[in-house]
Amino acid sequence: MTVQTDAQRPRIVKTKTLPTFDVHSPLTGAVVGSYPIHEASDVDAAVARARAAGEWWSALTFAERAKRLDAWRGEIARGADELALLINTEMGKPVSDGKLEIAMALEHLAWATRNAEKVLGHRSVSPSLLTLNQAASVEFLPYGVVGVIGPWNYPIFTPLGSLSFALAGGNTVVFKPSEFTPGVGHWLADAFDRVVPEHPVLQVITGLGDTGAALCRSAVDKIGFTGSTTTGKKVMAACAENLTPVLMECGGKDALVVDADADVVAAADAAVWGGLSNAGQTCLAVERVYVHQSVYQRFVSEVVKQSAKVRADADDGLIGPITMPSQVEVIRAHITDAIAKGGRVVLGGLDAIVGNFVQPTILVDVPEDSLAVAEETFGPTLTITKVTSMDEAVGLVNANRYGLGATVFSRKNGEAIARRLRTGGVAINAFVAYATVPSLPLGGVGDSGFGRVHGPEGLKEFTFPRAMTRQRFPSPLALTTFARSARTDAIAGTLVKFLHGRN
Ligand code: NDP
Repeated sequence: MTVQTDAQRPRIVKTKTLPTFDVHSPLTGAVVGSYPIHEASDVDAAVARARAAGEWWSALTFAERAKRLDAWRGEIARGADELALLINTEMGKPVSDGKLEIAMALEHLAWATRNAEKVLGHRSVSPSLLTLNQAASVEFLPYGVVGVIGPWNYPIFTPLGSLSFALAGGNTVVFKPSEFTPGVGHWLADAFDRVVPEHPVLQVITGLGDTGAALCRSAVDKIGFTGSTTTGKKVMAACAENLTPVLMECGGKDALVVDADADVVAAADAAVWGGLSNAGQTCLAVERVYVHQSVYQRFVSEVVKQSAKVRADADDGLIGPITMPSQVEVIRAHITDAIAKGGRVVLGGLDAIVGNFVQPTILVDVPEDSLAVAEETFGPTLTITKVTSMDEAVGLVNANRYGLGATVFSRKNGEAIARRLRTGGVAINAFVAYATVPSLPLGGVGDSGFGRVHGPEGLKEFTFPRAMTRQRFPSPLALTTFARSARTDAIAGTLVKFLHGRN
C-alpha cells in the first residue's frame, strides 16, 4: 500500500488560479468563506483520480471498508460541535438543530457500514425446475465513480444519504456541495482524508451550478442528486447525454392529515415542528394540513398557540433566517397569492417578512389551486384546510404532483389512511419518523423524484446486480442448442403445459 503525503494528495484541484465565489452567512451577511469555481477540466481530473482510487477502494473487503467508514463516523461524531457551528454559520440553522441533523446522519452511516455485506455480498439463489442443473448466484457491484450533488438545507444529512451508501458499496465519490455550504462539504472530506489517507476516495469540488453540470457530463458512472425538481430536470437532461444513471431526491409539498379521533395537541405539535423547524426549509416539511371538521377549530387554535412561541432570530431564535435570498420572494409570493384568492392569515403574514427573516405564518381557507397549497414554499408557513372526511383528505393529498412524504394523525385509522397515500414515506402519529429509521428507504414519487437513499434499497442504489450461473451438470433437456431433438421439444412442451397450463 502506498501512503501519500498531504502534498502529494490532490484533494482539491489547484492546478491553476481559479476564480472564486464568496459564501455569506445568512445570519450576519458577512463573508465567511471563499472557494474556487472548478471548471469542467478540473471536474474531469477529479473523476479520473477517483477512478484510479477506486481500484484500491473497491478491492477492499466489506470489513476493511467498514473499518475505515467507522473511523470516519468517529471523526464526525467527535467533531460534531465544530461541524454544527459551521452549518449554523453557512446556512443559519440553530446549532442544536445542526447537532440533531448530524446525529441522524450518523445513524444511517452506521447502518450502511454494518449491512453492506449482507445486502450486497455474493449469495446463492434457487434455480427453477427447468434450470436445476445451474448453480445460481447474485452479487451487487459498485458502479465505479459516483458524483454526488447536494443541497444546503441539510448539508450533512442529505449528502451523507448518498455518500455513506455509495462508499459502503465500494464506489469512490466526487462531491459537489451547494454553493451555500461548501465549507461543510470540505469538512466532511477532510475528516475522511484523516482516516483514509491512502487514496482520494472522497473528493470535493466547489463552484456554482455550472460545476454541478460539468459533474453530470463527466465520466462519472452515476449521479446522486438531491435538490429542487427544477434543477433535477436539468441534471437528468445532462446525464442523458452519456446515459449516466441518476438518483433523484427532489422537492416536496408534504401534507399532514388529522382525523376526527386524533390526539389534537400532538398533531398540532407535529405540524408546528414539521412546518416551522429549519425555517420550513426541509424537503419533508409539512406545508399543508388537512383536518377533519370535527376537530378543525381546536387544531387551528392549538397550532396558532404553539407557533406563536416560535421566533426566527439570529441570536437565540428557535428558527433561523431564510438561507437563499431569492427564496424570500417565493415565500412572499405564496402568501400574497393565498390572500388574493380568499385565504385568511391567522398568524404572521406579509408583515412577518423582515429582511431574510420570516416569522411563522399560518393560513386558513386557502384554495387548493393557490401557490401556497400547490407549490413548494420552503418557508415557515402552513396552510390548514377543513375536510369533511378522510376520503376527501386522501384525495387532496394525492392530487399534488409531489409525492415525498406525509404524516397521519389518527388513533384508530392511521394505517388505513396512510396506505392510501401516494408518497414515498408516511409517518403515523409522529412527524417524519420513517426518515430516521435506518433500515427504511427514503425517497419520493412524481415530482419528488425516484430512486432511494437509506436502507437496503439505498445500498443497492449505488451498485448494479450481477447475475451468475455455473453449470453443475448437463441438462437432461438441452434446449439452447441447434442439436435439440424433436423428443426434447415434445418433453419440453408437455412440461410447460404441466407447469403453466393449469392456470
Ligand atoms: P437546487 O436545486 O438549487 O441545488 C441543488 C444542487 O444542485 C446544488 O449543489 C446546486 O449547486 C446544484 N446545481 C444547480 N444547478 C445545477 C445544474 N445545472 N447541474 C447540476 N447541478 C446543479 O436546490 P437547493 O440547494 O436550493 O435545495 C433545496 C431543494 O432541495 C428543495 O427543493 C428541497 O425540497 C430539495 N431537497 C430534497 C431532499 C430529498 O431528500 N428529496 C432533501 C433536501 C432537499 P449551487 O448551489 O451551486 O447552485
